[in-house]
Amino acid sequence: MTANTGNQEYAARWQGALTDNYGTPAVALVRGEGAQVWDADGAQYTDFVGGIAVNALGHAHPAIVEAVTRQVSTLGHVSNLFVSEPVVALGERLLQLFGRPGRVFFCNSGAEAVEAAFKIGRLTGRTHMVATEGGFHGRTMGALALTGQPAKQTPFLPLPGDVTHVPYGDVEALRAVVTEETALVVIEPIQGENGVVVPPAGYLTAAREITRATGTLLVLDEVQTGMGRCGQWFEHQAHEGVEPDLVTLAKGLGGGLPIGAVAAFGPAADLLRPGQHGTTFGGNPVSCAAGLAVIDTIVAEGLLDRVKESGERLRSGIEGTGHRLVSHVRGAGLLLGIVLTEPLAPRVQQAAREAGFLVNAPAPDVVRLMPPYVLSEAELDAFLQALPGILDAADGDGSGE
Ligand code: PMP
Repeated sequence: MTANTGNQEYAARWQGALTDNYGTPAVALVRGEGAQVWDADGAQYTDFVGGIAVNALGHAHPAIVEAVTRQVSTLGHVSNLFVSEPVVALGERLLQLFGRPGRVFFCNSGAEAVEAAFKIGRLTGRTHMVATEGGFHGRTMGALALTGQPAKQTPFLPLPGDVTHVPYGDVEALRAVVTEETALVVIEPIQGENGVVVPPAGYLTAAREITRATGTLLVLDEVQTGMGRCGQWFEHQAHEGVEPDLVTLAKGLGGGLPIGAVAAFGPAADLLRPGQHGTTFGGNPVSCAAGLAVIDTIVAEGLLDRVKESGERLRSGIEGTGHRLVSHVRGAGLLLGIVLTEPLAPRVQQAAREAGFLVNAPAPDVVRLMPPYVLSEAELDAFLQALPGILDAADGDGSGE
């Protein structure tokens, strides 16, 4: 932290040193504790962005601080030429949470997890892949090929692979394109980046039936929905009987440290052979120790129940405002989208910030909330109390239409 450096100075330094792909962020964050963060001008916010669904335990959680400190001062990094305790322990722990035998590959991000799933798909000997329109799977070239958002793809064409995108939630569209030539189908249980879009009930079950019938791998991208974000360890566990072949994870997995993973089950667990894939930092002991601390703390503090309760309280409170800008709330647990009646999400985001709340606007008419699981009742209620005023402020000059 540089003394006397405020938000504006940080923005100027950013422009002098960093690439422009994020634009220039208006706010520089300097410190966090729990669900609270402070910016470089000294303003305090309740953080409903949470590093984009990363900070499951909030900021500076003692369990993560302790685990990371202990690990980094014991064994900070080993290459995958060697085993370390945290990497095997986290692999074992994840498989316990899935409740199925399998094998886990660790990497450093969501895109890398999807990239690994892409390569595992290729090892089936098939090349055709199916993903969903609006779906987001990351920005590396393979992951981008699966991402169903043309604006993000167009500057980078041609992309690898033979990918068909189908409308999300449409079982018949899926059935029409998945064949015995299809290596994998990749689906988010809830589309996060696309604005927290929830598929109709039965969609994942149908996707499982369709892929099983053609010998196609079903990949569930739980980078955003996994690790308790939606109220169970993995969102697909809320869908009875759905057993994916591959699950991609990242975000909440490390509670703020960079880590991604692919969990593979059944025959898919044996597709990667020695030498076929790898990454220097994947399975880094410090990131894995943080991952273990995240899981242990979710269990110890009963946070899955808390996520469900807080999610319900937020949903009913937001809908209960009866504000003309609120159409409805969608999502699960603490991955919620406030669907607006008008495309004013960027203005709501701005008004929220001025009122001391950080939120995100993944679509023009959707405000996304993904606070830490440790968000307190008082913090939650303060947001609900402030919301009508925030919506009024975003609703233009008060003149309505
Ligand atoms: N898959 C999903 C579902 C995501 O939400 C994201 C990131 N928003 C990714 C993949 C890519 O993750 P990363 O940004 O860590 O590469």
